[in-house]
Amino acid sequence: RRRERNIAAQVKNRLPQKMLNLLKSAGDLGHKLGWEVYAVGGFVRDILLGRPNFDLDLVVEGDGIEFARKFASLSGGRVKAHSKFKTAVVILDDGQRVDVATARLEYYEYPAALPTVELSSIKMDLYRRDFTVNALALRINPGRFGQLVDFFGAERDIRNRTIRVLHSLSFVEDPTRILRAIRFERRFDFQIGGQTMRLIKNALNLELFSKLSGTRVMHELQWIMNEEDPLACFIRMQELGIMAAIHPLLKLTKDKVQILTELGKVHNWYKLLYLEPEITSWKLYILGMTMGIKREDIGQVTTRLHFTRKEEKDFKQLRDMIGDALMKLMGWREGKSKLSRLYSILHPIPVEGILFLMARSRKEHIRRNISQYLARLRYVKIDVDGKDLLNLGIEPGPIYTIILDRLMRAKIDGHVETREEQLEMAIKIFKEDLVQNGDSTEN
Ligand code: ATP
Repeated sequence: RRRERNIAAQVKNRLPQKMLNLLKSAGDLGHKLGWEVYAVGGFVRDILLGRPNFDLDLVVEGDGIEFARKFASLSGGRVKAHSKFKTAVVILDDGQRVDVATARLEYYEYPAALPTVELSSIKMDLYRRDFTVNALALRINPGRFGQLVDFFGAERDIRNRTIRVLHSLSFVEDPTRILRAIRFERRFDFQIGGQTMRLIKNALNLELFSKLSGTRVMHELQWIMNEEDPLACFIRMQELGIMAAIHPLLKLTKDKVQILTELGKVHNWYKLLYLEPEITSWKLYILGMTMGIKREDIGQVTTRLHFTRKEEKDFKQLRDMIGDALMKLMGWREGKSKLSRLYSILHPIPVEGILFLMARSRKEHIRRNISQYLARLRYVKIDVDGKDLLNLGIEPGPIYTIILDRLMRAKIDGHVETREEQLEMAIKIFKEDLVQNGDSTEN
């Protein structure tokens, strides 16, 4: 049933020269060691789809760890090996990662007079994978470079844009594959195949999902939230009853869909304009997914998703900060209120919270103000620091925070500009403070 077609021409056309060289040298090394080496998984899928993918996964029919060590010393890089799993990661000097796994030749004893047969180990390796489209291998040894190894009809499925499991127990074995199916379906605009969909519904009827650990659910949710369009996945999950199966409070409401739509837009806008700080997608989208959930109920969700204590604390605090900021922003009037006030409202909030506030605000002027904060205010720096205060002879203490904070606000509001002006103001604040609090050193 195995089909092999040579796609060397596509491989050469679609990969950058550097990646091509990498594949060739890995194949040459395999040849020298007498082992067959394959590129596998998403890397091969994405060559066929014409999508860039730089996560190279190799499978070696031999000793993957030894292969990785030799490969690293040939190409310049370091190796992290996991002997328990017979896998290794090579990190090349230019930062490129290459994951290497071992496929062992396994011998199967057949009953009666039949001889022991050698099952192609790459086939066993691929059979453990989630979907046909991810179960392709590409030979890279010289002589057979570019030969596509397709045991399960993956090429046909890619042509028909179908997500299909390899066997009927796949979702029972690992229910997180349901979320993976949805993720790939939406990402590539594929369709989950008919039989595969029936198997998903079966698995859901068996309540396999409710039994899945929070850590694993959260892990897959995070992958979804890193996709281009997480909402598309959420909507599909909702249609299949998966949101409620994870936790009833996670059911999508109209409000949640609306905010998640806005979050998607604001997120893309931010990514286009700013490189830093990077948004942690899940922190952003989880705010939308939990919108409208009461403060006293939110713990149910964080417990279900197995947040760490710190994550839970930060998340609750972020929700509170957002609520607080929303109120304050209502009262802030452009042209009337001070810019330093806007700064104080927004400055303590992590950028995910700021974007949420933007998505949440229907009022155009509030969005504009937040955007002004992101574009300019958050970068404002004063030209005086603690060392300067020390040089001015000011005793270190809480007064430092007070002075530096007031200087910042003065600078934002345009009351001080140069360093000299700021130093002058620092002295003034210090003296005022002395008058107000008395000088304890004289008593
Ligand atoms: P992406 O483009 O999102 O990185 P990928 O296909 O490379 O997609 P990974 O999550 O990096 O996906 O996984 C690498 C490979 O490991 C996949 O191609 C898939 O074959 C396999 N895999 C990952 N998770 C599972 C799973 N839960 N069950 C079976 N196979 C899996």
